[in-house]
Amino acid sequence: AEAESRFIDGNAASLAAFTHACEGMPGGTTRNVLYYPPFPLNIVRGEGARVWDADGHAYTDWLGDMSAGLFGHSNPEIRAAAEEALAAGLTLGGPNRYEAALAEAVCSRFPAIELVRFTNSGSEGSYMAIATARAVTGRPKVMVMESAYHGGHFTFGRPAAPGGDGGSPLNVPFEFVLGQLNDWPATEAVLAAHGDSLAAVVVEPVMGAGGCLPADPDFLQALRDWTTAHGSLLVFDEVMTSRLAPGGMQGKLGIHPDLTVLGKWIGGGFSFGGFGGRADIMARFDPRRPDALSASGTFNNNVMTMAAGLAGLTRVYTPDRAIEVNARGDRLRDALNAEAAAAEVPFRFTGAGSLIGIHPVAGEVRSPRDTYGRSDQALALYHLAMLEAGHYLARRGYMALNIELTDEDCAALTAATRAFLDRFA
Ligand code: PLP
Repeated sequence: AEAESRFIDGNAASLAAFTHACEGMPGGTTRNVLYYPPFPLNIVRGEGARVWDADGHAYTDWLGDMSAGLFGHSNPEIRAAAEEALAAGLTLGGPNRYEAALAEAVCSRFPAIELVRFTNSGSEGSYMAIATARAVTGRPKVMVMESAYHGGHFTFGRPAAPGGDGGSPLNVPFEFVLGQLNDWPATEAVLAAHGDSLAAVVVEPVMGAGGCLPADPDFLQALRDWTTAHGSLLVFDEVMTSRLAPGGMQGKLGIHPDLTVLGKWIGGGFSFGGFGGRADIMARFDPRRPDALSASGTFNNNVMTMAAGLAGLTRVYTPDRAIEVNARGDRLRDALNAEAAAAEVPFRFTGAGSLIGIHPVAGEVRSPRDTYGRSDQALALYHLAMLEAGHYLARRGYMALNIELTDEDCAALTAATRAFLDRFA
């Protein structure tokens, strides 16, 4: 209560902005994920690795807009590319000079993507990948992992009731069945029960919104082997994980899905999504075919995203840069876990590379079920303490590093975490 009342006192302009926003939007937001009590900070500006709120406070940005903000704020290369596109006109209504180059860059970077189509969001990308799998296999069912998030219409939280599928009532009504991340016997039993009616198994190589939980390579390989043997497609949702290595997690692990979903940073910070994969599957979208599947969208090739994405992927987030940023994330996670261990406070920092999850729990965290008992109050306190110390991260315990963050920034976050944990030691 004390931390919350200090927050309210110090953020009058954000409170006023929130009150105003509630007049036009339920809960004052158009993205539920950005809300936290008593009200979210209103962010007015960003530059490099910093953001500023409406009350003039500066924060180091660890949230990275849920991983879309990989480039930090106002990256000069991306700005220049977007401004050049802007100057030549926006909705041109034809193939433009950027989209084929971006497609080529995507295909050469991610080994399991031979052909790609763009969308405006990761949600659309995952919808299209799943719909494609259903269309080409002629099968109805899709396996996803419990607690996975593949977009606003594919949310599979903790099951509300035993045996429930955990899906949201807003989900597209496909026939979903749930696997358990990193629990092959439980997952295999569900696969066996649905066998030849499964069109696809969809999995994130590192579960993101579900807690930043890496899938074991053996688990992913088992899914690869099972889907190959049973004629289902394996879909990797790499919306978040494509940043974790030069060729995404498919490149790092050498496990190649049939289809891949993309999103977030690949649009250079603009609205972006995509899906791609095996040429024989993606060729079904070729409009010259009599049996062509439809994939259209007015803004799918919008010049801002195509130009910014191309600059970001080819000139800014080079393979060397990807290795550097993810190594920094690994060092930071190790340092934060070392602080929690030294203070003997039950906090676990999970994830891989530049994606970090925060879980106030005592034991090892390998699957979503290990996080269900976590203390939301401890997480809220950590979040408020970090904001007071000038570190902006997600209330639900999530960080996505951007390329502008330095080792000094990591040291400052580690020190602030140490000070927080010491109060509970
Ligand atoms: N898939 C994953 C793994 C995601 O993390 C997200 C977004 O957080 C999506 C899909 C949906 O992407 P978008 O928010 O661009 O619709």
